[in-house]
Amino acid sequence: MRPERPVVIRAGNFWDGISDRPVGPQEILVKGETIAEIGTNVDLPQGAEVIDLPDSTVMPGLIDCHVHLTLRPELTGSFWSYSPSYKALLGAEALTIFLSNGFTTVRDCGDMDLHGFTVRDLKTATVQGMIPGPRVICSGHMISSRGGHMNATRSLSPDSGAWENCLADGIDEIRKVIRREIRWGADWVKFAASGGFSSVGDDPCQVTYSQEEMDAIVETARDFNRQVSVHVIGDEATRRAVLAGVRSVEHASMASQETIALIEKQGAWLCPTQLAAVKSARLVGDDAYWHALNVPAHVRQKMRKYKDCLLDNARQIAKSDVKIAFGTDIGILPYRINGACEFSEMVTNGIAPLRALKAATSEAAALLQRDDIGVLAPARCADIIAVPGDPFRDIAVMEKVEFVMNAGTVWKQERCTGHRIR
Ligand SMILES: [Zn+2]
Repeated sequence: MRPERPVVIRAGNFWDGISDRPVGPQEILVKGETIAEIGTNVDLPQGAEVIDLPDSTVMPGLIDCHVHLTLRPELTGSFWSYSPSYKALLGAEALTIFLSNGFTTVRDCGDMDLHGFTVRDLKTATVQGMIPGPRVICSGHMISSRGGHMNATRSLSPDSGAWENCLADGIDEIRKVIRREIRWGADWVKFAASGGFSSVGDDPCQVTYSQEEMDAIVETARDFNRQVSVHVIGDEATRRAVLAGVRSVEHASMASQETIALIEKQGAWLCPTQLAAVKSARLVGDDAYWHALNVPAHVRQKMRKYKDCLLDNARQIAKSDVKIAFGTDIGILPYRINGACEFSEMVTNGIAPLRALKAATSEAAALLQRDDIGVLAPARCADIIAVPGDPFRDIAVMEKVEFVMNAGTVWKQERCTGHRIR
């Protein structure tokens, strides 16, 4: 619903999403869904609501570039037998969790409702105001080769058609599947270039498409003005996908120093999903951690096999200048994990707090080709959050979001005082 009254947010500390550091106290005037003015003494229109956040850092709403709204690890095993309507309910709950944690935009990186287009429907429902939630950017289903990361056919019922699994081999099938995804509302095209950790029976280092097929994926998507995001773990698959021209490289958890440099040279973004990849590798011997994650045993076995490579990759990313986009892979991880824990994980792995914070704001917006979000400035969308203290000094405060404004509407308001201008 469109907010009626102007709102003035008085921030004790302000960071715009792009500057090198916060600038101290600022006021933000919001009219409707948009930021009208930012300054030390903004206009106070009659009837305006004033929200005081004297002890908080106010910053742009967060952008998670890699989520799965229709997936839960705790339902592994029986998951593929759930109906599209049940997955829609899971997605609606997921959206409120993201919003409460300060995420005002999420890009779904693979609809796991293989019988329908549930993420597209969740996006429609939020746009129409039927359910609350962040802005949803939809990548459709994850296109995979037969035998590849998304070949879950063995888990589907016998009367399921292969199309439901988004399997495509060879250029003709690839074009057909991509065009079908776009017809059904995919904003991005997502494909799997390698095996993965979560999938059964494959290896993360397997390369599942030829160079010719990856080139065809990017070319077909671009003809429809869509960009491509790639699930990829191993080095050779990452190299091929980057050469094909993907814009968004997901995970790249075993990419070498040379391949990380190639991602940078090609101007693509790396979305390293380090909570899922690096933390799980670091804690691969910790039974309590894995018990709480509740993922299948084969995930841990693969992590154990590739632990050293995963940790080395994280060191190489920290040393590089590659553009990083923030992504959690929540959905593969349980929804009770606050996605903002990814910030602390990135910093633990040597990524500077500024780089981590920009990854979830201005850099994420640049990846998504959105000039209306990710930065707080006049005429931008009023997606605004507040955290207690200063995240540049203590990144863990990102896990304690206390105020969320979503397109001008206050969704969460803790620990702040307010009054009305008469
Ligand atoms: Zn994912």
